[in-house]
Amino acid sequence: MKTIDSIHFSGKRAIIRVDFNVPLNDKFEITDESRINAAIPTIQKILSDGGSVILMSHLGRPKSGPEEKFSLKHLIPTLNQKLNTTVLFAPDCIGAETKKMAEALQSGQVLLLENLRFYKEETKGDEAFSAKLAELADVYVNDAFGTAHRAHASTTIIAKFFPHTKVFGYVMANEIASINKVLLETKKPFTAILGGAKVSDKIGIITNLLEKVDHLIIGGGMMFTFIKAMGGEIGTSLVEPELLNTANDLLAKAKKKGVSIHIPSDAIVADSFNNDANTKEVPSYSIDKDWMGLDIGSKSIENFKEIILNSSTILWNGPMGVFEMENFSKGTKAVALAVADATAKGAFSLIGGGDSVAAINKYHLADKVSYVSTGGGAMLEYMEGKILPGIQAILD
Ligand code: AMP
Repeated sequence: MKTIDSIHFSGKRAIIRVDFNVPLNDKFEITDESRINAAIPTIQKILSDGGSVILMSHLGRPKSGPEEKFSLKHLIPTLNQKLNTTVLFAPDCIGAETKKMAEALQSGQVLLLENLRFYKEETKGDEAFSAKLAELADVYVNDAFGTAHRAHASTTIIAKFFPHTKVFGYVMANEIASINKVLLETKKPFTAILGGAKVSDKIGIITNLLEKVDHLIIGGGMMFTFIKAMGGEIGTSLVEPELLNTANDLLAKAKKKGVSIHIPSDAIVADSFNNDANTKEVPSYSIDKDWMGLDIGSKSIENFKEIILNSSTILWNGPMGVFEMENFSKGTKAVALAVADATAKGAFSLIGGGDSVAAINKYHLADKVSYVSTGGGAMLEYMEGKILPGIQAILD
């Protein structure tokens, strides 16, 4: 893998595509710094080599042109503190002034560029715009795994202007190594746990995983499409009627491949989508008509715990229920704890996808699993077996 460790940055200017798309509150304070924390080792390696750093990122989804609430300048105090320096700021990500600031950078200095997505050329992957970003630096570093599945100017197109000086940062390198550990260097038994709202988002990953896993646990809202496809009564639970045939096809494929699919046999049902709704525990395939399944039941929890604890490789994407509501969080919490216990016993565990990461953080288990991925969509696409343009562009 071509990583920053292969370059000595002394006297070099590196432009790093970071993922600083962090959540901000009304006062423009960062409410979750994980993405910034993740990028610090890459920045520090370049600075301690004696290089200088230009940071570029998107933030939010500006519609057309600059918007105060999406300015990257709000990140400066946090960056100053974490890097223990005064970070310079370019109020435009391209242009003569920015070029002048880049050229004036001294060894050890950091320049943060304004939001790339203030230009529509960024998401369009415009070549001329990419060239303007490229002329700011000697080396291109991609460390934004969360956007590696997009062929944008700063994530992909820019790489062609650095034919011999383009590398992965540590975030990218760790993400790739962890996913490869799960997909290519798999220790058996391998269990994948998939949850979340929709089957439609996960068809690709389920199909690819059926080639590799021993056990596939399905929870969350998506379980009900499978249960209905098998002829169950699911009341008013979440369902994607257009995917019933697909669900049956996936079940048949699993059987053919010898993969054990585990669909919850019981569920916690509620009479409305509300934490204070009336609830009861019932078989998941015979839910009364005005009730909806919002979590997995206690028999399923026990069953899943046992499978997880006997696994050597674990991939978890998506919650088991509506874990944001306390009364429907038991299944997700139990799975999170079981993954942590299995990891303590020696399993390799990879957690990916926004909501399972939120769950792991909620239960303070992030340091008790092997790796927490920073990229939801990018991880899913990689797991589906797709070649991510941001990764390919460095390898080309
Ligand atoms: P996803 O983004 O597809 O991973 O879905 C995550 C969302 O699925 C979370 O906000 C959960 O609240 C929701 N979810 C999980 N289980 C259920 C369920 N049984 N019914 C409705 N929504 C659910």
